[in-house]
Amino acid sequence: MITVDLLIIGAGPGGYRAAELAAKQGLQVVIVEQDEVGGTCLNVGCIPTKCYVHSATFEEARERVAQVVPQLRQGVEGILSQPNITLMRGHASFVSPNEVQVLPLQGDSEGVRIAAKNIIIATGSKPKMPPLPDIDDPRVVNSTELLQLTTLPKKLCIIGAGVIGMEFASVFHRFGSEVTVIEFLKECLPMLDSDIAKRLRKTLEKRGITFRMKTAVQSLADIDADVILIATGRQPNTDGLNLEAAGITLDQRGNIPVDENFQLPLPLERAGGEAGNFQLPLLSERAGGEATYAIGDVNGRQMLAHAAEAQALHVINHIMGRADDIRFDVMPAAIFTAPEAACVGLSEDQCKAQGIAYKVGKAFHRANGKALAMGETEGMVKLLYAAQSLSAEGPLPLGKGGEMGTILGCHAFGAHSADLVQEVAALMCRDTTVEQLRDIVHIHPTLSELLLDAAR
Ligand code: FAD
Repeated sequence: MITVDLLIIGAGPGGYRAAELAAKQGLQVVIVEQDEVGGTCLNVGCIPTKCYVHSATFEEARERVAQVVPQLRQGVEGILSQPNITLMRGHASFVSPNEVQVLPLQGDSEGVRIAAKNIIIATGSKPKMPPLPDIDDPRVVNSTELLQLTTLPKKLCIIGAGVIGMEFASVFHRFGSEVTVIEFLKECLPMLDSDIAKRLRKTLEKRGITFRMKTAVQSLADIDADVILIATGRQPNTDGLNLEAAGITLDQRGNIPVDENFQLPLPLERAGGEAGNFQLPLLSERAGGEATYAIGDVNGRQMLAHAAEAQALHVINHIMGRADDIRFDVMPAAIFTAPEAACVGLSEDQCKAQGIAYKVGKAFHRANGKALAMGETEGMVKLLYAAQSLSAEGPLPLGKGGEMGTILGCHAFGAHSADLVQEVAALMCRDTTVEQLRDIVHIHPTLSELLLDAAR
């Protein structure tokens, strides 16, 4: 049996970043991966889809994926070949709270047992399929299978208007497919401010995508399409991990439950008692001690690649007993439709629902010099800020801020929305007020002047 400081299961953005950071701190790390390194993000998620977004044709997109993905994978393999890191190819499953069996992908060897002081579960997520009677219809694909198509579908139907559904709708429409999106809810992209989401949907509608909102699909038989993409969400992947052996019970939504440090409650066996039951150890017992963590999509908190990486950084800091200032309440996200959309912090709908006194500043791409010069006049930025001072005990999860004028959120659609929102995310991490934003000089002519306009 091998014993190491840190065992990581899964080499996606959460796992490989944790391995890199831990090795730099001198920890002996084993990372186990049952597939290609880079996880969903690199192989079948963020990177291939963005190759599609930035290619003019379906054929060009496929060629770009074939070129970019292996190149980036090599980069991750480089990270995982540093001293202190051992990459093991195989399937990991628990045999006890601090021991894992790694079975090779081929052959019938019993594999290797690894004991570790700390374990990070970073096994990601998998597509969630709705319980439709004809879900085995041969036209049905998930996002991974859609990326494997070798011919462009003439008619593509997408069930689900979340991020994955909307990005594929935009890209396949641009390639020339006839695209219909069917969504159960009233509006697309529930994480976006509904005003922004509606404007984005209307823009895509004007460009030729058909939306059937407030529609519950009962059967696929009546859908007129060559390919049906099911994009109804993703669920944590804990397949074959044998979590029972580690005393881990999933929560009601199927996520691995974690605390604010992404740590699991310590099973009794690990805390010196009988296996199978939980007891929450005192914080003092945890520091630098044995612990199991779950980061990234598998804990269901924030299913984004950069969230997985930030959680990895926090966990390695926690293992090393170091404090950090990562603001998990300020998590920017982007939707790479054309035009793109992005958001950080609260939406207007959330401010209303939470009874927060807020003000809104708006700015439109059509009145911005750079946007006009670029011919990108479709778009809007919405900045939300506190209309009155918010006490620390108030209804707002505002970290340390709370002064009148504190920026609460920014939601946008239009060219380069992700970059605009990233600026606001940086400001929110420092509890900046809208007055302070007004005093920051912005380059002219740029799209970032939209933020100044919204702040004025
Ligand atoms: P993953 O990347 O899923 O990695 C988990 C790894 O664990 C996998 O490699 C898996 O093989 C391995 N594994 C699982 N079980 C075991 C086991 N028992 N033993 C050994 N290995 C195991 N996010 C963004 O931020 N931006 C985007 O633009 C974006 N676009 C996306 C587009 C699509 C189509 C999809 C599907 C997702 C997209 N995401 C995007 C989400 C992003 O891919 C995930 O949030 C991210 O990959 C999560 O990282 P992770 O490390 O938690 O898990």
